[in-house]
Amino acid sequence: MSNEALAFLHALFRSDMPADQRAILCGFLGDPNDRLKNAWRPRPWRPGRDVPIERDENAYVCVATFCRRADGSYRRRKENFAAAHALMVDDVGTKVPAALIDALAPSALVETSPNNLQAWYFFGEPARNRDDFTRLVQSFIDAQLLGADPGMAGCTRVGRLPGFVNGKAKYGGAYPTRLVTLDADRRYTLDEISLAFGLRVARPRPVSQRQAMELALRQRGTPQQFIDERTRAFASFLHQMCALGMLKSDTPDIDGWTDVVCPWTGNHTDQADTGGAIRAPAEENGWHGAFKCHHGGCAGRGWRELTDWLADEAVLAMERKDAET
Ligand SMILES: [Zn+2]
Repeated sequence: MSNEALAFLHALFRSDMPADQRAILCGFLGDPNDRLKNAWRPRPWRPGRDVPIERDENAYVCVATFCRRADGSYRRRKENFAAAHALMVDDVGTKVPAALIDALAPSALVETSPNNLQAWYFFGEPARNRDDFTRLVQSFIDAQLLGADPGMAGCTRVGRLPGFVNGKAKYGGAYPTRLVTLDADRRYTLDEISLAFGLRVARPRPVSQRQAMELALRQRGTPQQFIDERTRAFASFLHQMCALGMLKSDTPDIDGWTDVVCPWTGNHTDQADTGGAIRAPAEENGWHGAFKCHHGGCAGRGWRELTDWLADEAVLAMERKDAET
């Protein structure tokens, strides 16, 4: 339990959360780089509740709140988006110059690793239009102001809660996360934020945030660290698929594809267990890895859809395990 975290959460979300919506927290022990996706199991939270995370764990909160799903669960997924409550700028003082926040005083500053801050700009009114929020985030990415991990941009982005630890091995495995400043009355509209930072909020355009990021990375040349991170993520998904018995072969075919069981086999004609294949990270797939399935119903399903499915599967498996114990 952490008073700092509770003060932060109450300031961020205040008390006006509808009964069928929740903030989503995550928490786990150890180095986030070593954890499989199921570490990110959502822990729904609403004002008045305790924080269900131990002090020696990594703890995170998502910038948005989410609506209850038909089965009663809450997921940090864009299709369940309720409202965005803040913009979070990562890596202030390290990858993003500390002077950035001179442009606009943050509502909160959280130190997440030595001299590295996450700056939070709380919204006066929650942003219930996801496109408006996405465009604000996109304008920060375009200006390269969002920190090291714009892959997490958008309404599913998480920041670290103060009063817990950063378990990354490179910081000794238990670096305390700390609230540096908090002013709950310092709140902004989306327009005030983009104006203060001199951002041009893009009109809707035919590329996704992810495409824009890939483009920016291609223009800059892909850094090795980025390739390493995506390769590690691929390895983690591969491990999970192996554990689920989805891999049909140990080695790729001559074109580099490895046959797998398609998660949507039940929708195939005659439920044929054919057609699914994955491919290792490479430049052509943005170092993510790739998935394809030749069945008509699976057209348009790629690596993103496969890994979303695997992440959900991991959460469900965790819940089943919890239910047994
Ligand atoms: Zn399929």
